[in-house]
Amino acid sequence: MIYAPDYCKDFSCIAGACRHTCCKGWEIDVDDDSLGRFKSHPDIMAHIDGNSVVLDSDERCPFLNNDGLCDMILKHGEAFICDICREHPRFYNEFEDHTEMGLGLVCEEACRLILDKKDDFKLIPARELSSEIKMIFDTSAHVSQRLKKLKPSSLSSSTRASFLKTLEVMDPVWTSLLDKMISSSPDSADEKRVIDKDPRRFSNLCAYYLYRYPGTAGFAVEATYTVADLVCIGIDIHEAARLFSGEVEYSDINIDSAIDYFL
Ligand code: SF4
Repeated sequence: MIYAPDYCKDFSCIAGACRHTCCKGWEIDVDDDSLGRFKSHPDIMAHIDGNSVVLDSDERCPFLNNDGLCDMILKHGEAFICDICREHPRFYNEFEDHTEMGLGLVCEEACRLILDKKDDFKLIPARELSSEIKMIFDTSAHVSQRLKKLKPSSLSSSTRASFLKTLEVMDPVWTSLLDKMISSSPDSADEKRVIDKDPRRFSNLCAYYLYRYPGTAGFAVEATYTVADLVCIGIDIHEAARLFSGEVEYSDINIDSAIDYFL
């Protein structure tokens, strides 16, 4: 059985309207079945080396056209493209008796759906949620208090930013934002102010981390505070969550290090 948050059914790629296309700057590994399909198309194989798509000099996928659309989909249909492109930004967590699927915050459209959701996190088909996810939507306390219940003491903003600076960086903008976080050092009162001013989005954000990384409440809380720190230094919450996701969640080494450090 595959469970998914109810917002997944509303997702569709906004393609040409996307400001941060996933077709630029990422390695694209082609699965074997797709490679088999591509082999009878020399125009496609001309852009593939081994099992990877060769990106242009500005790191764009060679099939991404100037309208922000995929030439391969336009010519052959969505079923033709490789798994990694068709599945993005979906993730899957496999458990013994079921699978949990979701959308990653690295995609700006997924980010909008996840953070702007007006009602509480819900799985389809219905399934009991973890006590942590239930707690983050318990409106008897402010969101800042709910975060404290999940992890009683948290790191300072500059400690978090200094740690994040030790990880592999994907976008130099990230380093400059971490430097700004260190020099501005938003304190716990600043974080509380931005979190409790936007309780629905910060609850949705923390629920996303709790769902995606079960059993790692400390990471969920520190990741939520990191996004709050970015908001404190003037970054929009959607952009902050998207940046954090691209830098930390979409590198196996970075996410493992962050979970270990923040737990
Ligand atoms: S980041 Fe999301 S919305 Fe943008 S091109 Fe990729 S899948 Fe589509």
